[in-house]
Amino acid sequence: MGRMIWRNGLFLPESQAVQSVYDGASLYGDCVFEMMRTFNKRSFRLDLHLDRLIESCRATYMPLNYTFRQLKMAHEDLLARNRHEFADDDEIRTMINVSRGVFPIYRELEAPEPYVMMTAFPLRWVLKDMSRYYREGVHAITPSQRQIPAQYLDPKVKNRSRLHYRLAELEVKRADSNAWALLLDDQGFIAEGSGSNFFIVSSGRLITPEPRNCLRGISRNYTLSLARECGIDYRERNLEPYDAINADEAFFTGTPFSIMPVSRFNSRQIGRGTPSSFDITTRLTKAWCERVGVDWIEQVRKWDAERPVTN
Ligand code: PMP
Repeated sequence: MGRMIWRNGLFLPESQAVQSVYDGASLYGDCVFEMMRTFNKRSFRLDLHLDRLIESCRATYMPLNYTFRQLKMAHEDLLARNRHEFADDDEIRTMINVSRGVFPIYRELEAPEPYVMMTAFPLRWVLKDMSRYYREGVHAITPSQRQIPAQYLDPKVKNRSRLHYRLAELEVKRADSNAWALLLDDQGFIAEGSGSNFFIVSSGRLITPEPRNCLRGISRNYTLSLARECGIDYRERNLEPYDAINADEAFFTGTPFSIMPVSRFNSRQIGRGTPSSFDITTRLTKAWCERVGVDWIEQVRKWDAERPVTN
């Protein structure tokens, strides 16, 4: 039957997960969203994602005609409806987009219809070829493209106006095709990756930027809660590139990959340069895997080794 999507209360074939060319989402990036994942096919921190979606809507005057409870039930139905479309060893990535619909000047042509659209697809798509990054660590590069600071377009709102993130990625990939972008804010402090938050470890202490000019990542906050549980000292404070250069360990956090070690920063080796030598990163990774009952590094390694990505 194929994957199904949920749109304003109805289940439809994925081919109907379309938007008008006159939609404000594509014309203005006027759209807020969330992206989730499962561990062992169970949603991870869904409530927090839905809370953040509702907050993003409030911050952007975005009409949201569904309550938290309705969205949660719709998401559960979405997983249930699509479960048979996924292999036993798959995990499910889900996405919720909220848009005001057709842009006002085009309402002669199409009825304005705000919508919520939820889709589900294999997480493998997103993590393809990433097992080597867990093994070797990624190279983080700070592009000339800056983060948009909170007073201009608040990055705490999870929104689709993302050209600056894309340009940051394109810029660093020209320098190193495997590099990940790490954006600085207008004052030169480290803000976040193009789809991730950033941490360093320095003298046994975990440090991440204050949650001002970055998304308040759910993986970021989960990592801080694991640090608390594991008795790892942590701080939220401004970080300069200088701090990353001299860190003992560094990593990105984000929903699809959880924790991703960073072994190089602007072409300098971080610490001893291999993820296996990163003690605190390893402890946090282990704690996370234990809590969710999935060795997610091994999972990605198997996906890379075993099966080509198919639609
Ligand atoms: N920053 C940005 C810009 C992102 O797009 C994401 C991914 N949604 C993150 C940080 C990480 O957030 P989370 O841990 O909630 O996935």
